Amino acid sequence: MTLDVEAIRADFPILERRLPNGKRLVYFDNAATSQKPQCVIDAMSEYYEHYNSNAHRANHTLADEATTALEGARDRISSYFGTSPDQMIYTSGATEAINLVAYGWARENLSEGDVVVLTEMEHHADIVPWQQMSVDIGIEVRYVPIDLESYTLDMDAFEVALEGASLVCVVHTSNVLGVRNPVEEIIEKSHAVGARVLIDCAQGAPHERIDFDSLGADFVAISAHKMAGPTGIGCILVRRDAMEEMVPFMTGGSMIKRVTTEGSTFQEGHAMFETGTPRIAEAIGWGAAVEWLEQFDMEEVHGHINDIASWTASQMRGIPGIRIYGDPGRDDSSGAVSFLHESIQSQDLALLLDEGGFAVRTGHHCAQPLMDALGVPSTNRASFWIYNTMEEADSFVQYLQEIVDRFA
Ligand code: PLP
Repeated sequence: MTLDVEAIRADFPILERRLPNGKRLVYFDNAATSQKPQCVIDAMSEYYEHYNSNAHRANHTLADEATTALEGARDRISSYFGTSPDQMIYTSGATEAINLVAYGWARENLSEGDVVVLTEMEHHADIVPWQQMSVDIGIEVRYVPIDLESYTLDMDAFEVALEGASLVCVVHTSNVLGVRNPVEEIIEKSHAVGARVLIDCAQGAPHERIDFDSLGADFVAISAHKMAGPTGIGCILVRRDAMEEMVPFMTGGSMIKRVTTEGSTFQEGHAMFETGTPRIAEAIGWGAAVEWLEQFDMEEVHGHINDIASWTASQMRGIPGIRIYGDPGRDDSSGAVSFLHESIQSQDLALLLDEGGFAVRTGHHCAQPLMDALGVPSTNRASFWIYNTMEEADSFVQYLQEIVDRFA
C-alpha cells in the first residue's frame, strides 16, 4: 500500500493557507515543528468546550472526565512507544525531558569527575544541561566528533570517549543533518561499560516507530509537537530501575502524598515527577495525534519522506553554488536537507524563498557546536514530512534555481 498523500493533506487545514502575498504555503520547516491534523485541534477544543476541569483533583463529573482523558492519553502514547504508562513522565517537551534526567538523575547519581559522553551533533537541549551539571557537580563532558566526509558519527572516537563513562547522551536523528545515529550499537556498547544511555528522539519519533522496551535505552526524550501533536508537551520514557534512582527536580502540588509544616512525602513512580496542574489539553491533543499516526506504517512514511529528501538534494546539487551539508540520499536519513549558497546569505535566501511561499528554517538550528564542526555559522534547512509532495519539492527546486539565476 502506498500513502494516500492527498487524503493525508486533507486532514491539515493549514496546508490550504495562502500567504499575505497570495502564494500558496509550502511548509518545509517540519523539523522545527509539524503541522497538526484537524482531529488534534478538535480533541483539544472538545476538552475546553465540554469538560475543561483540573485532573486528579475533584470528584465531580468534569474532573473525572478530564482525569480519564489525561490518563487515557498516557496509556495510548506509552503503548505507541512500546512501553507501559508507569515508565512515562509527561514533560513540556524534549528539552524539559533531558533537564529532568540531568537534575533528577545525574545530579543525584553522578559526582565530580564522572564522565558524560555527548556528540557534536547534539541539539542545545542535550548540551547545555550537561554543561550546567559540569558547573554544578563537576562532571566531565566529552564530545564525540562527526566524520566530515560522511556526516556521520565517528564511531571509533565514540569507543575511545566511552572509556570510564557513566552516562551517554546521543541524538537519535540530527535535526540539521538528518542522519540517524546507530543508536542500537551505541546503547549496547554503553551498557557493556556500565553507562546509562539517554537517546534524544525529538527528531526520531516523527520518522520511525520508537519501541522503548526493545530499544533498551535507560531514558528516551520525546517531543509531541514534531509528530503532529501540540506544543508544550512531550515526555521522558524511563526504565523502571533508572526511575528508582531519580529524585524530583520540581516540587509542589500533585507530586506529594502528604505535606505538613514539618515536611513532605512524595508520590511514587512517574507521579513523583509531574508537578502542578498537568498539561491536560496538550496530553489529550497528543493522544489524538498518536491515534492519527497509528493508521500509518511508519516505514512507509519514512520511505515517502526519504524519497522527497533524496530527490530534492540530488536536484539541488545541480544548482550552481549550492552546497548540501549531510547526505539526504542515505536510506536512513530523515528528511532534512541543510544547505547554503556560496554567495547568497542564508537569511536573504530564506526571505526570498518565503516570498515564493516556501517556509524553510535558517540559523544555527540550536546546534552551534555542529555548526562549528561544519565551519559555518548557520544553514538553510528544508525538512519534509508525511504531507509533503514531490510536486512541492519540484516547485521548490525550480524556485531556488530562479533565485540563484537572478541573484548569484
Ligand atoms: N532535540 C532535538 C534533536 C530537537 O530537534 C529539538 C527541537 O528542535 C529538541 C531536542 C527540543 O525539543 P522541544 O522543542 O520539545 O523542547
